[in-house]
Amino acid sequence: MALLRFEHLSFSYPLADTRALDDVSLEIHKGEYVVLCGPSGCGKTTLLRHAKPGLLPVGARAGETFYKDAPLSQLPELTAAAEIGFVQQNPDNQIVTDFVWHELAFGLENMALPVPVIRRRVAEMASFFGIEGWFYKDVTELSGGQKQLLNLASVMAMQPDVLILDEPTSQLDPIAASDFLAVLGKINRELGTTIVLTEHRLEEAFPLATTVAVMDGGRLLCTGTPAEVG
Ligand code: ADP
Ligand code: MG
Repeated sequence: MALLRFEHLSFSYPLADTRALDDVSLEIHKGEYVVLCGPSGCGKTTLLRHAKPGLLPVGARAGETFYKDAPLSQLPELTAAAEIGFVQQNPDNQIVTDFVWHELAFGLENMALPVPVIRRRVAEMASFFGIEGWFYKDVTELSGGQKQLLNLASVMAMQPDVLILDEPTSQLDPIAASDFLAVLGKINRELGTTIVLTEHRLEEAFPLATTVAVMDGGRLLCTGTPAEVG
């Protein structure tokens, strides 16, 4: 069973004269680390937004996304929130609370988990991501790299089955970007989380990937191992 399956997905934004997605079919399996690449405007973001119900763009659509063999449209909201993690391009757009510790706990509070479970998960994430040193800081005091790491840790606290990231390092300096990509490798290896990533630092993202998918003009050109595609 594929964890995520895009099946003959086509999509046009309102008033657009070309398709942003043109008959894209792609299967993503448990434990895979997929890097989605292709030139700017080829449809990467549009495709990723078809993997999470709350982010689905408005427009004309054909085809369907399946999550664990069920249509994504039928997935209960709480399941989608917990199981499908999404990290966006701009770290500032995703932080919603005031303090680091609160941001880590926020998603878990919304899932109405018992307080001891929230405390344990927040502590585990702070340790895994090396956040202990700035755990009590105000989020406005953080660097861009720290903010994006906090977004990632907050999403991972929900223990998602799949982690989707749309150019997460594009606003970061080169060192913070490398550190961030290294943490993604650690998540995939040590926690077994399935990862789907769009990234322009291909020379750093490729060595971690199990699968590379290349898009152009809304179409999926090819998929394979990094060696095959490279
Ligand atoms: P990528 O992430 O690969 O850069 P996108 O998925 O953002 O590509 O964009 C695919 C195409 O859809 C592009 O031609 C882009 O101009 C268009 N597009 C993206 N978002 C919108 C939108 N909100 N409204 C209209 N057109 C859009
Ligand atoms: Mg994009």
